[in-house]
Amino acid sequence: MTDTRAVRTRTRGGRVRRPVAAEPVRGDVVLPPTDGQRADALSADLEVALDLLKQAKDVVLVAHIHPDADALGSALALGLGLARCGKPVAVSFGEPSVIPESLRGLPGQHLVVPPDRVPANPDLLISLDVGSVERLGSLARLLDTCRQSLVIDHHPSNTRFGQFHLIDAKAEATVVLVAGLLDRLGIVIDRSIAENLYAGLATDTNHFRHANSAAHLLAARLIDAGVRPPELMHPISDSHPFGWLGMLSEVLGGAVLDRAAVGGSGLVYTVIDDAAKAGLRQEELDSVIDIMRTAQEASVAAVLKQTEGDSWQVSLRSRGPIDVAAAAAALGGGGHTRAAGFTHYGDPQLAVDALRDVLDS
Ligand code: AMP
Ligand code: MN
Ligand code: MN
Repeated sequence: MTDTRAVRTRTRGGRVRRPVAAEPVRGDVVLPPTDGQRADALSADLEVALDLLKQAKDVVLVAHIHPDADALGSALALGLGLARCGKPVAVSFGEPSVIPESLRGLPGQHLVVPPDRVPANPDLLISLDVGSVERLGSLARLLDTCRQSLVIDHHPSNTRFGQFHLIDAKAEATVVLVAGLLDRLGIVIDRSIAENLYAGLATDTNHFRHANSAAHLLAARLIDAGVRPPELMHPISDSHPFGWLGMLSEVLGGAVLDRAAVGGSGLVYTVIDDAAKAGLRQEELDSVIDIMRTAQEASVAAVLKQTEGDSWQVSLRSRGPIDVAAAAAALGGGGHTRAAGFTHYGDPQLAVDALRDVLDS
């Protein structure tokens, strides 16, 4: 572990500044950590995480509720790797009680157990791609009954619940952190593990639109390990039942453009209520935001999806400098700068009003 007190930093002009203190202070002003300090903290956290993984007698890996390919892919990839080392492994998520249909092609499904059959007292509980306790759903109970817990995530809004953390808000996806752990553990990334990693990387970077060169290099490695992107990604991102088209026509037809919102840079939103979603999977509902976000006249897109009765899951996307993670956090949710969400209870129009207010402030 690097001692941050021994780190020498350069000023913008290239001059070497005095060594920085572990708690960076100037007078009574606390400065934000430098990139160097963040990297040091991250590499210390990585060593702790590796130690926990090596020592664990048995492991439960938990993805966030309504898992996406990054959450489930991370849990399955790490689960497959640890199982290969001879460790008893279970993978789960708080809800729904079955694996989303679009993710059933990911290798390692035999590791998945329904939430009510998860071992109650795991030696090590690992949450993956989970930004807050609420996103563990019913499996939050394991935080009190496990021996140790490790949070692996890339959400800037992570609340640092649990005991130990490997959180890198600059990572494109949680699978990037998992790939790093597997490499450091000397676990070979075979095709089964690679498919899980690729699926998470592709979906969280919006199919490599937001991927840096390191992410592209990781993707190349995964393809060399046997991933066939078209076959792997088709059921995850490109496949919907015919009824989806009717739902789209209704829901997109009802979209509202508020040009004055977001300080004049525009908000586009639509509502998917119980009647509109009838008979369709979560996958169909979640696809709507990707169409809404293409509206040129709006820098923020929102889709309000009725979950049960009075409660609504709101998906947000933004372009340019607009930080929807901050807006979502102000409304009790979280996420990333350009993709975030929150839960609303009550009249959906009130959620739109509240969103407009926080985006304007
Ligand atoms: P989604 O629109 O569901 O694809 O979510 C986009 C991002 O926002 C993901 O990174 C989620 O983890 C986060 N997110 C979505 N809904 C919530 C919520 N209710 N609470 C906290 N984070 C959320
Ligand atoms: Mn996710
Ligand atoms: Mn993610």
